[in-house]
Amino acid sequence: GAAKNVGLVIGVTGIVGNSLAEILLRSDTPVGPWKVYGVARHPRPNWNDDYPVEYIQCDVSDQEDTQAKLSKLTDITHIFYVTWASRRTEAENCQINGAMFHNVLSSVIPNAPNLRHICLQTGGKHYVGPFEFVGKIPSHDPPFTEDLPRLNVTLFYYTLEDILFKEIDKREGLTWSVHRPHGIFGFSPYSLMNITATLCVKFWAAVDPNARNEAFNCTNGDVLKWKHLWKVLAEQFEIENYGLEDGKCSERVRLEEIMKGKESVWEEIVRENQLQPTKLNEVAVWSYADTVMNVGAGYLVSMNKSKEHGFLGFRNSISSFVTWIGRLKSHKIVP
Ligand code: NAD
Repeated sequence: GAAKNVGLVIGVTGIVGNSLAEILLRSDTPVGPWKVYGVARHPRPNWNDDYPVEYIQCDVSDQEDTQAKLSKLTDITHIFYVTWASRRTEAENCQINGAMFHNVLSSVIPNAPNLRHICLQTGGKHYVGPFEFVGKIPSHDPPFTEDLPRLNVTLFYYTLEDILFKEIDKREGLTWSVHRPHGIFGFSPYSLMNITATLCVKFWAAVDPNARNEAFNCTNGDVLKWKHLWKVLAEQFEIENYGLEDGKCSERVRLEEIMKGKESVWEEIVRENQLQPTKLNEVAVWSYADTVMNVGAGYLVSMNKSKEHGFLGFRNSISSFVTWIGRLKSHKIVP
């Protein structure tokens, strides 16, 4: 039969990497099941134990560590780059994320003769700029299409694309795809920025000849505002009075402020419900949630290009949201 596909997932304990690895391993996945190498910075967490992933603890910001551990993986056919590091300024983000991506590509490309495709995940900031500039710099009118020119800002996604284009040229026949999702639902107690159609798009792009060498937007393909999710969220925890009226726009709440100093309340919840021991700042990123909900309002993305290239998948965001909450419960991260 055909040679097995071997995926290298960089960031396997993250929101995207965790689900991606899980789906690659399934026998009903296109051209699957895959053999999967999963890289993350931390020792293997216990909620990831039962996946048949070859787990590799490696700090890809460290050139020597990356070279030592990844240059040995000579059977890799596909790289899925789904990680990132956050620094104080966007210039620093470009520097660190650029170095990480370059370390991975320069360790794998010269040593993996069967390498065929590199998937790079970036995101919606491609169209609106770094969070701190949203609304402060001229940006495009939504809906956003993949061919829009870059904004005149420093942004680490642009740095990553430039490194990809330069490295890909070093080997003939190597193909690429870039994926630009917006907010993602998923499971990872290590980030809780919350995946759905993104993942489907990545296999599809990794194996479908129509999808080679292109950038794709990625959304669930339905119409949704955050306000439609509050009631669903409350129902999952059997909360009747959650203080927001459905369908109405109330005054802006900042989670970062409301949740300040609530660490001990979380500890109590964890103890009472015998959850996995976590700290509040590990399971929740309030500032991220605040920013996403703020940007959400004017954010509209076109999926036409993906559809024209043959990706017709979609998800119902509400049922996806419920599924992921169920997963957090079954892993005893939330009560
Ligand atoms: P994440 O923060 O959930 O996970 C990051 C993963 O990378 C973890 O497995 C972590 O261990 C690993 N990692 C971090 N630094 C490392 C290092 N130095 N060496 C080895 N491993 C390291 O990430 P994510 O949210 O899945 O993000 C992936 C990409 O998707 C990023 O470019 C992000 O900007 C983009 N994105 C995310 C969202 C979202 O909602 N989460 C939305 C749009 C775009």
